[in-house]
Amino acid sequence: MTDGGPTLLEPGGTNAVGRMLGILGDEWSLLLLGHSSRGLTRYGEFRRAMPISNSVLTHRLTQLAEHGLLDRRIYRTNPLRAEYLPTARSRTLWPMMLAIWEWERRWTGPAGEALPRRRHDTCGAEFAPLLTCRACGAPVEARDIRAAWGPSGGWERSVPASSTRRRPDSVTVSPQYPQTLEIFGNRWSSALIGAAFRGMVRFSEFESALGAPPTLIAERLRAFCALGVLESRQHARHPGRPEYHLTDKGRAFFPITALSLHWAQKWFVSPEGPALVQTHAACGQDFLAHLACDQCRQPLRTGTITIVPVIEDRTTHEGTA
Ligand SMILES: [Zn+2]
Ligand SMILES: [Zn+2]
Repeated sequence: MTDGGPTLLEPGGTNAVGRMLGILGDEWSLLLLGHSSRGLTRYGEFRRAMPISNSVLTHRLTQLAEHGLLDRRIYRTNPLRAEYLPTARSRTLWPMMLAIWEWERRWTGPAGEALPRRRHDTCGAEFAPLLTCRACGAPVEARDIRAAWGPSGGWERSVPASSTRRRPDSVTVSPQYPQTLEIFGNRWSSALIGAAFRGMVRFSEFESALGAPPTLIAERLRAFCALGVLESRQHARHPGRPEYHLTDKGRAFFPITALSLHWAQKWFVSPEGPALVQTHAACGQDFLAHLACDQCRQPLRTGTITIVPVIEDRTTHEGTA
């Protein structure tokens, strides 16, 4: 796989959304891509940077190379040594990674608060990324976007082809972004949050749209309520038939969804046309997800963001003479 253009998908097969979820809905792959974006390229470097077994690391590196997110290059032949370089495809994931960082930092309590801050070099301020419409520049939330399936759309084509049931190797670790992975690292979870963003609130709606077994839907709804992403409310006229509404924390996940969909449709193209067509209601243009700095409102660009070193214990530095 080279650093080239988008992958042309099979007609009638898994669409861009399903391909994206198959690749990114895996905690090790997301962690590896994070380390790759910070300059790690060699097997031993990845091995030292994360609590990963040799077999899992080998498997994920191979997979990411097959999907065009890493470029495998031999740099020594005796013994054989390869390094894994980022590609255009993986480099364009940075807005989504930035959105994950922001959501974890804002919504997951002490673990999130401990994440390093970031500074926007253009304005010099510590910032949070703001989801905007590329066409008109306005900040957007889920409710501002009209979404409809495109020619390659539909729930059935939008889930990964192979089952992404949690593999044994992913249960015992503590991933960097546990709550994001709870939503993103499972095919039904991603589909469910997508359905919630499209306005579904009732069990029967989720069930008929997703075509998933009722026990699975029930389990995921419970998990999302426990995570604080959904809340159940009793329907006034139909007690005993709860509705599941997105909370503020759930709605705040929208930039991750929007940016991952944007990336998916840029790099995986179905011959029939896009999987999802989104319109920004206020300006009437096609919605292309774009991040801006919440401090200066300028678009965020790669190379203009600096990680601010974490100060171990701020209290020891403040108020002391
Ligand atoms: Zn707009
Ligand atoms: Zn700024």
